Amino acid sequence: MFRLQCVKCRKVSQDSYYDKQLDKVICSECGESIDDAPETTKRALIGIGKVINTQPKTSYMIECKACGKSGEPVLKDNELYCQSCGAKLAVNEFFKRTAIEHLNLEAKKSTRKYG
Ligand SMILES: [Zn+2]
Ligand SMILES: [Zn+2]
Repeated sequence: MFRLQCVKCRKVSQDSYYDKQLDKVICSECGESIDDAPETTKRALIGIGKVINTQPKTSYMIECKACGKSGEPVLKDNELYCQSCGAKLAVNEFFKRTAIEHLNLEAKKSTRKYG
């Protein structure tokens, strides 16, 4: 567990993750980057697989620990599952919320498409 003091929300981020795209450690409390996170923390987060790869324009890609594939998660009963193997994805609350919001948005968009 990595406890980092976030300078932006001033909370202690206990479940931070590493954003590959931004090359930054992200605070689990507010979702902002923790700019002064040490290199060792980044490497440690990568080591335990707490990595996300922001895909700003299209989708929320999550790497599944069970099958190793990255993909947009499937939303079922407010939980996120891997679309390749169906395993439940272990993500932090912040990411889950954002991804669920995004997926709900996508769902609304696609039902509206022909109406
Ligand atoms: Zn924060
Ligand atoms: Zn999987």
